[in-house]
This record gives sequence, structure tokens and C-alpha cells, in this order.
Amino acid sequence: MKGKVYKSTGSWYSVKAEDGAFYECRIKGKFRIQGIKSTNPIAVGDNVTFEIERMGDAEVGTISAIGDRRNYIIRKSVKLSKQTHIIAANLDQVFLMVTLNNPVTYTLFIDRFLATAEAYDVPVVLLFNKVDTYNDEELAEVKYLASLYRTIGYTCIGISAKTGKNINKVRELMKDKTSMFAGNSGVGKSTLINAIQPALSLKTSEISLQHLQGQHTTTFAEMYDLDFGGQIIDTPGIKGFGIVDMEKDEIGDYFPEFFRLKSDCKFNNCLHIDEPQCAVKKALENNEVAWSRYKSYVQMVSDEENIHRIDDHDP
Ligand code: GDP
Ligand code: ZN
Repeated sequence: MKGKVYKSTGSWYSVKAEDGAFYECRIKGKFRIQGIKSTNPIAVGDNVTFEIERMGDAEVGTISAIGDRRNYIIRKSVKLSKQTHIIAANLDQVFLMVTLNNPVTYTLFIDRFLATAEAYDVPVVLLFNKVDTYNDEELAEVKYLASLYRTIGYTCIGISAKTGKNINKVRELMKDKTSMFAGNSGVGKSTLINAIQPALSLKTSEISLQHLQGQHTTTFAEMYDLDFGGQIIDTPGIKGFGIVDMEKDEIGDYFPEFFRLKSDCKFNNCLHIDEPQCAVKKALENNEVAWSRYKSYVQMVSDEENIHRIDDHDP
């Protein structure tokens, strides 16, 4: 049978088969996938092949194969000697929720997140939330930021999870897609998800693996079906994308507006810092590249160890 992993506990996987039924599955033998060593060989969002057998009065499955991933996001634990954990696979998009106030979302946070998502090959939609609370000056700032990030290529929407403004637009983008929400604590992720589908929290208890796993764990991602088509991946305690290793000379490739200019730089390995005849710096002086973006870039390039921490959670 073929299906999609909706939940994993590390040893058991809840798989939704093509017929819509859920099966609790285990893995057979050892998996080594696409050259990455991770603590979990299979993650939420993976497409798998499995065989059913009876165990007592229950049917359980054994996963025998996993489909190619179009993308995946990982978390590295600094404490556990940089062990890699795959959070989720096969994402269509991540919604990054941003607020100007309560809490402040810094452009450095946004830019780090976007660069990391580019590295993961995961599309990002920017949601500027809490527009119901902003004064004219703040609304002008939202307008400026939205137009800046739109020019780079990101979809941007001003919303209010509280009043419901533009929630229908978010729903339209989510239809028939697999989505994830990210953003600082307090930006309104839970409020928005609840506005999109109020019954979602009820479904959480329906596909529980507690009877099989014995011990409850909340550190694993979980996927839920949306009433109107598509899925949402819930990642408890994960505000951003964790840590991604990037070489200094590849960071510029994850700033799309820099990448587009790169071929016009004199040196093909130009870091856009102090090289002569740099197309990015020229564009910056002509106000064709935003200073805030360039500042974030310089900050990322000068970070030690090339390790980019973009959230405040460590497993
Ligand atoms: P999370 O930590 O990202 O899940 O944020 P929550 O959904 O818990 O929201 C944090 C606080 O912001 C709550 O008090 C919400 O009621 C409030 N909030 C969320 N969205 C909005 C909004 O669009 N407008 C206003 N005024 N408050 C909001
Ligand atoms: Zn350059």
C-alpha cells in the first residue's frame, strides 16, 4: 500500500493510506536516505510504501520504501553533538508570520528565515499579522516591507487573525497544499490556525499514537488534514528553522535579488563585501537593493562558524 506519514514518534509512524484510512506502521530494517544521516529515517510528510499484517486484533504496517523528497527541513541538536533530526518533508510552503509590535519581528530574523528556506528549497509566504492594531505609521511600514519582499519574489499578505481580514486569501493559498506556520512566539500562529479551521484542535486527539508508544512526546511534528483540502504541519516548540550550515560564499545565492545580480560582479566568487566592481554594491548605492537586506546578509556572512540560529528553541 502507499500512503503519507502524518505523525511519527520515532518508532511508530501513523500513515494515511490512499483509501483514507490510518495505519500504525513500523520500519523494517535500516533506511539510509539521500545521503543524510539523521536520528529519524522517516519524517512527517514522507510518502511511503508499506505492507499490512495482523497483530493481535489490530492491523499494523511495515514500511518498506520511501519516496523521493522534493524538500525537507532539519533540526540539529548542539547538545547531542550536532545530531540531525528531520522535522518534515515535502512541504509546498511555509507561512512566516511577522508582526511589527507585540512582538517585534526584526528584518534580520525575516531575512535569515528566508535565506534558510531558499537553502531548503521551501517556498515562503510572508503574513503581516495584527494589522488591526497598527497606526498609520506602522501600516506604512507594513506596506513598505510587503512591497520590498514582493519585489524579491515572495508573496506577502497583510492579515488580522483576530478580525479575520484576508484570512480567505490565506485559505486559498493553503488549498490542496501542505503548509507549515512559523514565526516568533506571540505573532498569532495559534490564533490564525484556529481562524482557518476551528475544528483542527479536535482532530489532534483522533489520530493519537499514545496507546502504541506508551510515552507521550510533543517534540515531533504532526500533520492534519484541512476541511477544504490540503494539510497543515504542526511543529510544537519550533519557531523557525533551527540551524543550517552554509558556506560563506553560498549565502548570497539564498538572497534571490543578489543572486540575480551575481553574474554582473567582476569576480564570479564575489562575496559582495569589499570586492571591486560588485553589481550588488552598485545596486545598493542606486537603491535597487534594500539596505536592510544587505545588512542582514553582511551579518550572516560575518557570523562565526557559519551556523545560523534563527529560532529560540533547542531540543
Ligand atoms: P502564537 O504564539 O504565535 O501561537 O500566538 P497566539 O496565537 O497565541 O497569539 C498571541 C496573542 O496575540 C494572543 O493574545 C492573540 O489573541 C493575539 N493576536 C493574534 N492575532 C492577532 C491579531 O490579528 N490582532 C490582534 N489584535 N491580536 C492578535
Ligand atoms: Zn558582488
